[in-house]
Amino acid sequence: MTRDPRFDILFESVRLGPVTTPNRFYQVPHCTGMGYSMPATLNAMREIKAEGGWGVVNTEYCSIHPSSDDMPHPFASLWDEGDVRNLSGMTEAVHRHGALAGVELWYGGIRTSNLASRSAALAPTSMPTSYAPWQSQRMDRADIQQFREWHLAAARRARQADFDIVYAYAAHSYMLAQFLDPVINNRTDEYGGELANRSRLLREVVEDMRAAIGDRCAIAIRIETLNDDGHGRDERAHLLETLAPLIDLFDVTVPDYSQEMGVSRFVKEASLEADIAHIRAVTGKPVVSVGRFTSPETMLSQVRRGVLDLVGAARPSIADPFLPEKIREGRFDDIRECIGCNICYAQDSLGVAIRCTQNPTMGEEWRRGWHPEHVPAVAVPEPVLIIGAGPAGLEAAMVLGKAGVPVMLAEADRDLGGRVTLESRLPGLSEWARVRDWRVGQLEKLPHVEIFRESRMGVADILDTGIGHVMIATGASWRTDGRGHSFARPVDSFNDPRTISPDHLMRGERPARGPVVLFDDDHYYMGSVLAERLVTEGFSVTLVTPRGVVGSWGENTVEQARSQTRLLELGVEIIVNTTVCALGDGTAVLQCVYSGRQRELPCAAFVPVTSREPQDALYHDLNGKGLKTLVRMGDCKAPGIIAQAVLDGHQHARAFGRLPDELIVRRDRVII
Ligand code: ADP
Ligand code: SF4
Repeated sequence: MTRDPRFDILFESVRLGPVTTPNRFYQVPHCTGMGYSMPATLNAMREIKAEGGWGVVNTEYCSIHPSSDDMPHPFASLWDEGDVRNLSGMTEAVHRHGALAGVELWYGGIRTSNLASRSAALAPTSMPTSYAPWQSQRMDRADIQQFREWHLAAARRARQADFDIVYAYAAHSYMLAQFLDPVINNRTDEYGGELANRSRLLREVVEDMRAAIGDRCAIAIRIETLNDDGHGRDERAHLLETLAPLIDLFDVTVPDYSQEMGVSRFVKEASLEADIAHIRAVTGKPVVSVGRFTSPETMLSQVRRGVLDLVGAARPSIADPFLPEKIREGRFDDIRECIGCNICYAQDSLGVAIRCTQNPTMGEEWRRGWHPEHVPAVAVPEPVLIIGAGPAGLEAAMVLGKAGVPVMLAEADRDLGGRVTLESRLPGLSEWARVRDWRVGQLEKLPHVEIFRESRMGVADILDTGIGHVMIATGASWRTDGRGHSFARPVDSFNDPRTISPDHLMRGERPARGPVVLFDDDHYYMGSVLAERLVTEGFSVTLVTPRGVVGSWGENTVEQARSQTRLLELGVEIIVNTTVCALGDGTAVLQCVYSGRQRELPCAAFVPVTSREPQDALYHDLNGKGLKTLVRMGDCKAPGIIAQAVLDGHQHARAFGRLPDELIVRRDRVII
């Protein structure tokens, strides 16, 4: 296949001071949850991106000095020679594929509590730090001088590690951005007050870098776009003009959406584009930005319209590390598009290595030796029967098919996709259908994979096929008996005609009119999206949660605040720190999780969102029936998030027909 010549422009190189990119595909710095303690895992993951065609591959935020650590969130570091050695592994790996390697030098300031080092966080002012009940230390002149030296030393180490692009990080409320921020920076010395003063440290840091490493490395700066109203544009223009001669690349980012320090700005795409145009005009330097790129067409349009010089991507490069290569080869329908679930980010929030719903090989490149594009052929490809075409069954069928195994995939419903098909009809989740669509598209290209819809399979049907290898992926269903985090035993009174399960709601059933009580003991998205669906259909909805906030796990995916805000705006009544402990006569009985005090609420319909029952009967019934191999996978094994089902399907498919020594899982760690 050859690419459409319209896309040629994306494959042009771009000069960034002393270095030149091979194309315009730019993986911006993004967290990996691997940090400095998993160098082999990290380097292999970054290498895959370079192999997949990203012209620039960056590290995540990289601490310049031990006096700023972000624990419990893993971060990269350039503190010493050991870090230089480890990160040299990344630059070497990235260079092997002709790409450039970049490093984002970082210092947290107020946003870090230094839980690991236990030292006071240095910052322009003394304010409460992010994760702990203690404050930062207001920097005096000597501290500022020391910070400059640390930054410079890290920049020199970056050059030593053979990085091509080195960042000053002046965004996302970290140190340099804190100095720039007129609200946070209340200093009265030459580093506070008007912008010329607030930007002094940034200018000094950049000047230091330019002088020390600017001959070999491009100097990049990461800054945030302005608010939609463009407030402060003229003042900033002057700063940009001053910085421009020192900078080879402006990375314009949107503010992060965390609620920390009151930062929660949502910038419109049009405002971002206008701001980027302004930055380019004022500086005359190349600009990269993530924007809200969703497809090769939008990428192309941004470059053609002169919005961007380099197209930045974080999530698209996680969901499909081979996206540039697929565009180059004109294989657009092979691109695995991100679904925006933020599970990748959640991993870092939780302090563990990155994973991706769409790309189950993410984070497994070194540990299991998984490649996102290649599956080794199975030596003896005997046919496999897969029951259930949800994310687990679809993924397993696709991976086995690519490994050369004949597959029969049987699905009870007319629609494929299982839970993602149902859930993608819920508010805000339409993009989740991509989990199904991409896999179905891939399956259609595999002639030895046959799909049977509307084929509910029982034990006899399965044995009648004569296929010796069976994989069960029959999913799970929402429980209605209340069992979950709060109740280990069924709540008898929930067995009531007013109780309606999330599965039934998703399939279109609706309760009679009257007050709906939704008990969210799941703490992720299902309770919130069902409440949203019902309230927008005119039901009066009360969401009851035993936690202090709605959908508390969503804090890891940065969705919690947004979804609670949305429910409040839509008029959902929210009751926190409370369980629904019983159904009474026309009421739901609520109980405070602290005091145990009870009260009643009118209730015409009750929706328990608590936990799910694995549908594993078929698996158990087939056990001992003489099959050569029988496995269960996905939600019928252990109900979980979609990423878990995809990964499980992938893993079982990769394991099929392999010897144990082909399935080695390595452990990345420093050995003394
Ligand atoms: P997972 O997330 O583990 O893939 P899902 O619940 O999304 O699980 O998908 C399970 C799929 O299995 C559903 O589409 C369901 O219709 C299908 N299924 C369940 N039981 C059978 C059966 N006996 N025969 C065929 N398909 C089945
Ligand atoms: Fe996109 Fe979700 Fe993958 Fe992150 S985890 S890259 S948001 S699909």
